[in-house]
Amino acid sequence: TATSTPLVVAFPDGDGTMAEILGGKGAGLAQMTRLGLPVPHGFTVTTAACREYLREGQEPAALATELEAALRRLEASAGRSLGDPVDPLLVSVRSGARFSMPGMMETILDVGLTDEVVTGVAARQGARFAWDSYRRLVQMYGRTVLGVDSAHFEARLARARADAGVTTDQELSADSLEEVTGDFRKLLLEHAGEDLPQDPREQLHRAVLAVFASWTGDRARRYRAHEGISEDLGTAVNIVQMVFGNRGRRSGSGVCFTRNPATGEPVPYGDYLVDAQGEDVVNGSRRTMDLTELAAREPELHRELVGHLATLERHYRDLCDVEFTVEEGRLWILQTRVGKRSPAAAFRIACDLHDEGVIDLDEALCRVDGHQLASLLHPGFATGSGEQPVARGLAASPGAATGRVVFDAATAMEWAARGEHVVLVRPETSPDDLGGLLASVAVVTARGGLTSHAAVVARGLGKTCVTGVEGLEVDENGRRAGLPGGLVLDEGDALSVDGATGEVFLGSRDVVPSACALAIRSWSHEQARAPYLTHADPTVRSVGRLLAHADERRTAGVRANAETPSDAHAAREYGAEGIGLARTEHMLLGDRRVLVEQVVTGNERAAALARIEELARVELEQVLEEMDGLPTVVRLLDPPLHEFLPDLVDLEVGTAVARAGGTPDLEAERRLTLVRRWHEQNPMLGLRGVRLLAAVPELVTVQVRALAEAAASLKARGLDPRPEVMVPLVADVCELTGALTRIRAEVDDVATATHEAVRVPLGVMIELPRAALTSGRLAEEVDFFSFGTNDLTQTTWGMSRDDAETSFLAAYRESGTLATDPFSTLDDIGVGRLIRLSVQEGRLTRPTLGLGVCGEHAGDPDSIHLLLAAGVDYLSCSPPRVPVARLEAGRYAV
Ligand code: ADP
Ligand code: MG
Ligand code: MG
Repeated sequence: TATSTPLVVAFPDGDGTMAEILGGKGAGLAQMTRLGLPVPHGFTVTTAACREYLREGQEPAALATELEAALRRLEASAGRSLGDPVDPLLVSVRSGARFSMPGMMETILDVGLTDEVVTGVAARQGARFAWDSYRRLVQMYGRTVLGVDSAHFEARLARARADAGVTTDQELSADSLEEVTGDFRKLLLEHAGEDLPQDPREQLHRAVLAVFASWTGDRARRYRAHEGISEDLGTAVNIVQMVFGNRGRRSGSGVCFTRNPATGEPVPYGDYLVDAQGEDVVNGSRRTMDLTELAAREPELHRELVGHLATLERHYRDLCDVEFTVEEGRLWILQTRVGKRSPAAAFRIACDLHDEGVIDLDEALCRVDGHQLASLLHPGFATGSGEQPVARGLAASPGAATGRVVFDAATAMEWAARGEHVVLVRPETSPDDLGGLLASVAVVTARGGLTSHAAVVARGLGKTCVTGVEGLEVDENGRRAGLPGGLVLDEGDALSVDGATGEVFLGSRDVVPSACALAIRSWSHEQARAPYLTHADPTVRSVGRLLAHADERRTAGVRANAETPSDAHAAREYGAEGIGLARTEHMLLGDRRVLVEQVVTGNERAAALARIEELARVELEQVLEEMDGLPTVVRLLDPPLHEFLPDLVDLEVGTAVARAGGTPDLEAERRLTLVRRWHEQNPMLGLRGVRLLAAVPELVTVQVRALAEAAASLKARGLDPRPEVMVPLVADVCELTGALTRIRAEVDDVATATHEAVRVPLGVMIELPRAALTSGRLAEEVDFFSFGTNDLTQTTWGMSRDDAETSFLAAYRESGTLATDPFSTLDDIGVGRLIRLSVQEGRLTRPTLGLGVCGEHAGDPDSIHLLLAAGVDYLSCSPPRVPVARLEAGRYAV
């Protein structure tokens, strides 16, 4: 409640566990203070204060006094006071929410400078430093508190650089900066009707409220919507004594990671910029040095920094990132958190930390997830084509992607909305580009390192990204870019980006399987125990180890959805323990559709049926052979009948034309009558699934017969076929019993004829709400249930998966009506509830009832946990998703 949660907490009074009220940054600062790291003095205004401010539209009554008390304590510990013209305390006012939202909210530096104070600072510490800091304050205050567009400030700075004939702000003289500051003040008056307050306490207070308000800014909202961060958390605000990286050659500002966040290599990684403050280092405007260079220049400092990094890793037991500043040779740590990392790094780091004795294998398994594994299984570019990259940059976020070039976020979003794959090419990115980053398949920037905005955001989103491309010059207004060697890139040109190597290629390139996927498949053929241990690539090795551990831990089975021999083969290589869904309709597509038509029309019916049986027998035999010894669930024919018949409109047009020409096509007329007879307004709720047995029973039963024959023939060859049959789209138990009777009759028939008895367990798909609701009764009849979560979602929601996305689902997501797509992540409270009810009632009737899931959701990491919690025994997904399901089922079990 408001009374028990403090509004303000000083760094020494907090710790790393208090992120809920201190935000991630505040908790980190408090924890580092406790660990004895060199953190400037400060305090945190809690998220509780922000929440109240946002809720009530005004700040908590006690905030002003608590702020004042904390400020006095800060002044005492810093030995300086705010507004002192001789030796002033300056502070930063920094946002920091519970979950990291890099660059999404505001920070104001150098608060406390006024006309009077700046003169004092100039006299004691140098005019250039004083005016550089003051202009930064006016700019950040103007932008964040008064809402003045940054472009105005940037334009004025650009003019100052041009006048002085220099390329960076760092080269501007004190006089020039003083002039710029004066003009910035005019911009404030002109655009906001207000000047910078000359009372430092008022600056501070207004800055705190502006940071509160930045929580509800567009950028922040959009980021939260994408990351699934709750809107009600609010942000904390950290007030931190300023230390200065902009005081000359022995000062600077940097960002680093305790290990390499792209590869996971266990070596500290970072960027440092001499004579810089705040975000200078990540915005890519000047060339940074890496830690090796820093070590050469400032060995003492480097040693100290690396020592602190080790302390932090020991404490957090994970990769951390750190923001630091050096003021005249003295190191200060300004921020830490458990760092974001690429999927490849996540696997490597988890296993390395295990090998270093920091975490156990269960925890290592929990440090990675199925989304990360899925992205490692993504294909890359074909190698050996001799294709030469036209440019090279830093491998900032792995993946391979091809798309058309755009130079701004708005165009990226516009083109993506009409279905284009776009590659966003920018000088550098800023938080304003988030929409464009989300819309693109890859991002390329001319400037910036592995810790730049583009790199950090792309890694978080799993997008391909290359930063710091040498020789890339983007002319945003001209919608073109120059590449090394005089090449020119126009908007709309195809570009291929390899985020794993940092290479950029002109044109579209072919994409090939990932090393990880190839390795996983090859291990299934090795006799050696743990063949992954000898793989040369540490990431692939780590994937193998954690997958093996997941397999050891999980109790749920993992099967694949497959119906062709080659898919069945792949499924087995990916580690599937059977087939959970073989779709018999796949054997009747293409040219074979006419066989169905022949059965329906009665033209050469017997021959067509025999042909269908023959095709099914051959193919099912191959599939069962691939899956020797493992269960293979074959589903009876499922799609609406009309999908196998000729197109109604084509026939209508054809016959009308013939009739008009005076020579009616009698055969076509006859087919038209037939197609009309079976035409449905709403086929997905029509003649499909078990209902087909009522219309064309033999079409269905020949497939059962084929399956039984295939199994008998394998058994005669000494193999161990394990066929199962399931009945789709059942709503009522009588539909089911009717179907089961026919299936049993076919199976028995074949057994008698072949003298080979193969046991065929029978099951029912639960994909209509009525089936779920009557599960107790259905379970009396079958050996297993299989949840068809795609149809169950469609029929529970009453919406079509094929149409909803374009007609209204996208708009629902945009407006927040529906936060997530129920077709990609299981709708737990609706569809999930039906599944839980079905599991309970089914098991009550038949304790041995098998329970599988065969919809898309079985391969979705988030849905897997919900499904396993509901009590299902196995997941069945597409073959390449099988490793993802194995990993997630293992994570669920630990
Ligand atoms: P973000 O959450 O976007 O990283 P921060 O609050 O960390 O924003 O501030 C951005 C940068 O400003 C920091 O990385 C640091 O370089 C600089 N900064 C913030 N507070 C101080 C301070 N007290 N002294 C010196 N630099 C600071
Ligand atoms: Mg920032
Ligand atoms: Mg920061």
